Amino acid sequence: MSQTSPSSTHNLRADGARLWATIHETARFGGTPKGGINRLTLSAEDGQVRDWFREACEAAGLTVGVDALGTQYALRPGQDMSLPPVAFGSHLDTQPTGGKFDGVLGVLAGLEVMRTLNDAGIGTRAPLLLVNWTNEEGSRFAPAMMASAAYAGDFTTDEILAKRDAAGTTVAEALDAIGYRGGEAVGERAIGAFVELHIEQGPILEAEGKTIGVVEGGQGIAWFDGRIEGFESHAGTTPMPRRRDALLGLSEFALAVERIALAHGPSAVATIGEATILAPSRNVVPGQVAFTLDMRDPRSATLDAMEAELREAAAEIGGRRRMTLALSRIWRKEPVPFDAGVVAAVEAAAEGLGLSRRRIVSGAGHDACNLAGRVPTAMIFVPCKDGVSHNESESATQGDCAAGADVLLQTVLRLAG
Ligand SMILES: [Zn+2]
Repeated sequence: MSQTSPSSTHNLRADGARLWATIHETARFGGTPKGGINRLTLSAEDGQVRDWFREACEAAGLTVGVDALGTQYALRPGQDMSLPPVAFGSHLDTQPTGGKFDGVLGVLAGLEVMRTLNDAGIGTRAPLLLVNWTNEEGSRFAPAMMASAAYAGDFTTDEILAKRDAAGTTVAEALDAIGYRGGEAVGERAIGAFVELHIEQGPILEAEGKTIGVVEGGQGIAWFDGRIEGFESHAGTTPMPRRRDALLGLSEFALAVERIALAHGPSAVATIGEATILAPSRNVVPGQVAFTLDMRDPRSATLDAMEAELREAAAEIGGRRRMTLALSRIWRKEPVPFDAGVVAAVEAAAEGLGLSRRRIVSGAGHDACNLAGRVPTAMIFVPCKDGVSHNESESATQGDCAAGADVLLQTVLRLAG
């Protein structure tokens, strides 16, 4: 197995048709009539795809372990088992109206890398490790990307096991229900480097006609809970000037959010994704509104500046409208630069394959962003149609998926020797 020459490994390609078939085969677990996937983390459907994944890995000769938060690790031995494994993977859970590619591509392309190496009889010096991280999406249990965060040491296992979904079920109970509370301590697995292949989930690669995004890092994220306290009053009898309408306060604040993000553009984005009138009624002027705010930029200083301007806007609007507009920051993740060496390996792999490419920053959060705090890490992006993701219509081409798998394969070979 060790006799393979470098030139023959450089010519090695993943089987794009087999990868495509695998993506569509697993899409039945939680498949929706509109062609998407509803596979919330630790649901019965997640259990089914995990079972499928374990069997497929074992059929490829891999040894599969599970940690205490359900993350699956599939190991292919290396020639030098004293080296930490080169790891790659992503997640198999989806949003409730998720697509077939978000996360799935990175895991199944990883499986395709293992199968391709097996078919070619190629061994690596360092072992290889394919990972399916638990709960990347954060739709059922918050926070998102909790298992990789625990791996990186940002949470204890017990903190995560105690998190509850909307029905009151804990992560521990959900893991037990599908038989995926494993015996390995979280964070115990050594990982020498981590590479995650993912659809871009944005429009840049497609718009520029590039096949590969060489991801340099993840942007910073700040989450806020907002609350506006105006005053409930009769919709028929309260003259307009006397009103303290919390919904109008939010409307004005939402436009300020847009203005501030645009002023820090083009990388800055800010979103009010949830807004609720508390005690809503058709004939009552809204007195209280709760909302969420998600703000992102690759630069830490820009996050600071935007937050200061948002607080200023909230105070000004609240003062003028005689209401309180409170913003509390509930989470902040600093921008994550990826490892220059692993990024260079991705770039060299894409170049060696003759694929068009550009450097890019990840707009979404990913498990790789958590891993980067502990392990040399980078990501590979491929385009998705119209930049649409977290949607049943999410789409990527067979050719781009295959190209991404080829880059993953060649990156792994460079890193693992
Ligand atoms: Zn994802």
